[in-house]
Amino acid sequence: MTPERPLAEGRVLLVGAGPGDPELMTIKALRALQSADVVLYDDLVNPQILGWAPAAARLIAVGKRGGCRSTPQSFILRLAETEARKGHVVVRLKGGDPLLFGRGGEEWAALHAAGIAVEVINGISAGMAAATQIGVPLTHRDHASGVAFVTGHSADGREPAWEALAKAGLTLVIYMGVARAADIRARLVAGGMRGSMPVAVVRDASLPSSQALRTTLAGLPEAIATARLGSPAIIVIGAVVDLALTLALEPVSAGEAVRSA
Ligand code: SAH
Repeated sequence: MTPERPLAEGRVLLVGAGPGDPELMTIKALRALQSADVVLYDDLVNPQILGWAPAAARLIAVGKRGGCRSTPQSFILRLAETEARKGHVVVRLKGGDPLLFGRGGEEWAALHAAGIAVEVINGISAGMAAATQIGVPLTHRDHASGVAFVTGHSADGREPAWEALAKAGLTLVIYMGVARAADIRARLVAGGMRGSMPVAVVRDASLPSSQALRTTLAGLPEAIATARLGSPAIIVIGAVVDLALTLALEPVSAGEAVRSA
């Protein structure tokens, strides 16, 4: 059997679309999109960005929709591989940075193992945009010696070591954490984090629809519930949240001080 012969130009570009605001996409990402024959996009990708793909490009949604199961990963990979082997430029467009959560690392490894040429183009992650939008620096010489990007999602049973993070002196930027806020609070408090630690939650960072709230670790789940702040949202925990410039809110009890950006 003759192996399928990959044509010279066929490849997959794993591209970060940024946090939502189309202008926060990199020039390199834009150029990649403009060179696409096929675009496989997640549903956190702003539709405005898709408008920059060539008119002839095939745009295929492969994200999960409102709580439904995602398109099976094996299908996405097969499609990307098949199209690349036809000699097509496949842009795999993911929200934020392609290698922060969202299984980008798995896609890269699987395509590489299949012998497909893969190029990765970074994007601005939602956690970075969320902090900036509310005037919070993720690190600060006096307040945080570093930052940890962590998932609050526990579906695969591999959770961050919250008790250790509670003591780390880092800003915590939590993705997919809104539904698990009560557990996260309990684990951080168990690890010794003070209940008065300032917290911000930002939904739809960088978009006109954005909402943000500020609370404390002790009031976190109640504040989220009262504000009905849904996904996608980022939780930022740490002393740097006290420096918030645009979210000039006093530390509050649960749920006060919800602002639309
Ligand atoms: N690769 C992405 C993250 C994918 S995981 C990135 O680097 O940003 C999906 C999670 O990202 C969501 O559940 C939410 O926690 C967060 N997220 C993505 N876009 C967001 C946005 N515009 N505002 C707030 N959170 C966002």
